[in-house]
This record gives sequence, structure tokens and C-alpha cells, in this order.
Amino acid sequence: MEAWQQCLADIDASEMLVQSGYLLVWESASKLDDARGHADWLQEQGIETELVQGARLAMLEPELAPQLSHALYFPDACQISDPFQLCQRLAAAFQARGGRFIQQPVERLEPDQHSVTVHSNIDAFCFDQAVVCAGAWSTELLQGLGVKVPLEAERGYHLTYATESVQLNHTIGSAERRMVMSALGSGIRVVGMTEFGGLTLAPLARGFRALQHHAQGLFPALAGPDVTAKQWMGPRPTLPDSLPVIDRHPQYPSLLFTFGHQHLGLTQAAVSAQLVVSLMRHKPPAIDTQPFRVDRF
Ligand SMILES: Cc1cc2nc3c(=O)[nH]c(=O)nc-3n(C[C@H](O)[C@H](O)[C@H](O)COP(=O)(O)OP(=O)(O)OC[C@H]3O[C@@H](n4cnc5c(N)ncnc54)[C@H](O)[C@@H]3O)c2cc1C
Repeated sequence: MEAWQQCLADIDASEMLVQSGYLLVWESASKLDDARGHADWLQEQGIETELVQGARLAMLEPELAPQLSHALYFPDACQISDPFQLCQRLAAAFQARGGRFIQQPVERLEPDQHSVTVHSNIDAFCFDQAVVCAGAWSTELLQGLGVKVPLEAERGYHLTYATESVQLNHTIGSAERRMVMSALGSGIRVVGMTEFGGLTLAPLARGFRALQHHAQGLFPALAGPDVTAKQWMGPRPTLPDSLPVIDRHPQYPSLLFTFGHQHLGLTQAAVSAQLVVSLMRHKPPAIDTQPFRVDRF
């Protein structure tokens, strides 16, 4: 959070981090003890929540309340107002400060002791340092460079409903349906599913159908005849220990890495950037990066 606050203040985009609060909801009254148990476990980790029901729940989330039995409320939770708009703001700030954005598929990296040559299908660029941050595709770029990382593509699906007919005040997670809904600049986004399918398999229609079923189960208004949703599937870059790689190459110090942020790449992007920039500047990182070593597997 602190890293995102610093980053957004720096590019004059602080309003993109919104204290939306988060409600983890249950529809079955028989699961009240699940919520209590989860709240106790969270408290042991230093995270305070409030168990909400009835009138309090209806006040927090009026449109959803009739479907719900109870919820855990995280009042301090934040969300990004819209991830795509955030990318655009970051790219604009980077370019305004003299950065060049070149969109070409990288085919090969050729590092030596003092530089890295990045070969795309069109050009070759030589840099004093380069960072591999290509998500689930990162290990394709490491082939032949002497490091082996067991990175998997953990596929997830989302639907974005461009609708005014549903009002969401908080980010909503359904403990029973295992999906999350949030109000973004682009509409109501419903996300969920985790699936191993590699990097080339097309999205499966049943993934979108399942999300739609659960979104409409929570919000019947989303079943309206005029309500349409955009579909997306993407790979989360996941390692067996759920930690990222943030490191430099053991033999080629000009080549650095930051990938493998699994389900938390948006949450952890700003702090990861701070850590990798410290490595690039040969300054001690703010937190120990030993657990994120590239050669730990
Ligand atoms: C459905 C879903 C919901 C999610 N929700 C959240 C959430 O709420 N909060 C959260 O923190 N995280 C969330 N995540 C996880 C998050 O999206 C990822 O952790 C994050 O995108 C990883 O960021 P990245 O930059 O490492 O990789 P990516 O976002 O995958 O970006 C990698 C980029 O590299 C490019 N690339 C790859 N290979 C090459 C090449 N050879 N040459 C040039 N470019 C290349 C790709 O085109 C891509 O643009 C979600 C993921 C999914 C699938």
C-alpha cells in the first residue's frame, strides 16, 4: 500500500487508489461459524474485521443485502479505480519523463558482463541493464541463459459488465461462490477461477459460463436481457512457493528479474518495482530479497 501511495503521488494519480472497503460475504446462515472462525484467524495475523448482518449489512450494500446472511467487513481495504486506466497513467508519466515505449515481441536476450542486447523480431537494442518482467512468459526468455525456474500459467477469467443497473459500494468477495466483484471505471468486474492450461490453450467457454452463473446468483439484475459482459482470460505467473522472483542473474549482473507474482501482481507491483530499482542502483533493498532468489528452486 505504502509503495502504491508513493508511486501514485509521484505521478499525480493518488485518486486512482480508492478506499473502497471489502466485504467477504456468505449467503447461507449455517456458515456463520465459518465467518467467525475466519475473523479469529485474521485477528491472529493482526487484521481486524467486523462481522456484519441485518440492518448494518443492508446499509453497507443495499442492493446485495437480500441475498446475504452475513459478511466480514474490512473497512480499510483499497482498490485501484481501473487497472487499464492505471496502466495508461503510468505509461504517460514514464513517457513524459523521457521514457520510450517500444511495443515489439522480444525473441531473445543476449547478456554479457556489462550489458544486455534485447532482440525483437524487428530490432536489437543494447542496454546497460534490462529487467525481465514478462509475467507467465518470463521463463521463455530465460531459455539458454543457465537459470531454471518452474513457472506455471495459472489461468483466470473475468467478465466486465458495462451496466448502470447494479450499484456496488465495496469490493465483494463471495466465500461460497469463490469469486470477487468490484466496481471499476469500465464497469462491474467479476473475477475468479484458477486453471492450469499453459500459455497457448484458448479460454474455455465453461469458465465464463460459471462466472456469469455466480454473478447473476448474487446480483439478479445482471441477468437482464440488455446486460452484456466483456470476456477476458489471462495467465497468472505462479511459482510453487507462491513468491515472486526479484533478483539479478547469478552470472550476468546486467540482467534482472521481477516476475511470478501469481494472484497478487497488481497489489505487489509498486513494491516490487522499488525493490528491483534498488538492485539496479546497487543500493540495499528496503526488504530482504533473499526469499525471491532466481536460483532457489
Ligand atoms: C482473472 C484475474 C484476476 C486478477 N485479479 C488480481 C487482483 O485483484 N489483484 C492483484 O494484485 N492481482 C490480480 N491478478 C494477478 C495479476 O493480474 C498478475 O499477478 C499480474 O498481471 C502479473 O503482472 P506481470 O506484469 O508480471 O505480468 P503480466 O500482467 O502478464 O504482463 C506481462 C506482459 O509481458 C508481455 N510479454 C510477454 N512475453 C513478451 C515478449 N517475449 N516480448 C514482449 N512482451 C512480452 C505480455 O504481453 C504482457 O503484457 C489477477 C489475475 C487474473 C488472471
